[in-house]
Amino acid sequence: MPSDRTRALADLDKKHVWHPFTQQRLWEASDPLFIESGDGNYLIDTDGNRYLDGVSSLWTTVHGHRHPKLDAAIQNQLGKIAHSTFLGLSHPLAAELAARLTAVAPDGLTRVFYSDNGSTSTEIAVKMAFQAQQQRGETQRTVFATLRDAYHGDTIGAVSVGSIALFHRVFGPLLFDTISLPAPVTPGGEEEAACLAEAMELLEAQGDKLAGFIFEPLVQGAAGMKMHSEDFLRTLMTQARSQGALLIADEVATGFGRTGAMFSMEHVGLAPDLLCTAKGLSGGYLPLAATLATESIYEAFLAAPEDAKQFFHGHTFTANPLGCAVSIASLDLFEEEGTLAHTRSLADQLAHHLSRLERQPGVRATRQRGVMVGIDLCAADGSDLDGAALTGHKVAMAARPLGAILRPLGDTIVINPPLSLTHDELTDLLRITSEAIAQVVPR
Ligand SMILES: *Cc1c(COP(=O)(O)O)cnc(C)c1O
Repeated sequence: MPSDRTRALADLDKKHVWHPFTQQRLWEASDPLFIESGDGNYLIDTDGNRYLDGVSSLWTTVHGHRHPKLDAAIQNQLGKIAHSTFLGLSHPLAAELAARLTAVAPDGLTRVFYSDNGSTSTEIAVKMAFQAQQQRGETQRTVFATLRDAYHGDTIGAVSVGSIALFHRVFGPLLFDTISLPAPVTPGGEEEAACLAEAMELLEAQGDKLAGFIFEPLVQGAAGMKMHSEDFLRTLMTQARSQGALLIADEVATGFGRTGAMFSMEHVGLAPDLLCTAKGLSGGYLPLAATLATESIYEAFLAAPEDAKQFFHGHTFTANPLGCAVSIASLDLFEEEGTLAHTRSLADQLAHHLSRLERQPGVRATRQRGVMVGIDLCAADGSDLDGAALTGHKVAMAARPLGAILRPLGDTIVINPPLSLTHDELTDLLRITSEAIAQVVPR
């Protein structure tokens, strides 16, 4: 039973708050959980219950909650200043972080444009690519190629290059046209080969109209952890580039270690022209984003002031100093704590657990890249689930009393834990997931 305090908070929330992506009618009939604190890889609610943070607080938390070094970085900066504008002024940590980011990013990405969330980081990349093409005299280049089921954020430009059907149904008339390239659910098979053949034809047909190609490299997260191979992406990137398109890697989800490399593009071995980061940039602590660009794109914006060729974009809280401080400290931790090597060992352990989970009734298939995992559910007899039965949601709810927070994507259970998870915590997380599935889809 929730405490009186939790019930009072629930009353306030239901009366005044409007939650993201939430049918409020369902929410108002539910018992909301209030997370009040964190401790390492655990979240703690207002009644003192502890939960493993199975999805890194929406794919953000990298080194755990309340990491002493991350906390100290923010406290130290708070002793100086919390915010000053980046329009017409600079600050020390923004310059330092930009140098650190370009040092760990794929080759050739030398410029950092700050903003404050993933949607703005992709919106910026799309506008930058478009304006660069225009200013290079390639005015016919107005089309963006995207991958089917892509998710690049919720602002209108980001929605335009995404293809979440629900968004397109409502906002369709507001969106600009794109060409959507088929992409597989699982890497490397016949489905992927068929997608690739069709995608290549679609690209070629665009000739020199292509302005850019935007993609989530290797893992299409919000689509339900759809995955493709390095070869698939490399072939499309090479084709798009040969037609003069600028390549935009949206690493908002995959960046900062989640695939076992600092950036997913390292697996692909081809550098993009623009790279978007957000979620894990600040270690998951604060809203900070960065769009990285090549020197060549940057140069397309250099001109006499009266030519009005500067990049027309900027946000009030751009390059917030507290966000920059914690981002630098997070990059330090990657080195000090051997985060990438630990992530790869977690990924090996995960593969072992998933091969067992795949044999459980109610589990149709699992996909994994690093610590990013999708578990597709089905009925106990292997048949399709009725989406309206909200089975994924029920599994996530069943996991709570067992001690883990999960957030599904439809009937795909997502696991995407902090990179600081211990091997024992990972075993617990998978045991809870398996038990929760067994409760909702009996063996
Ligand atoms: C989450 C996400 C975004 C949007 O980030 P927000 O901070 O929620 O705006 C964009 N692209 C990808 C790949 C994402 O996973």
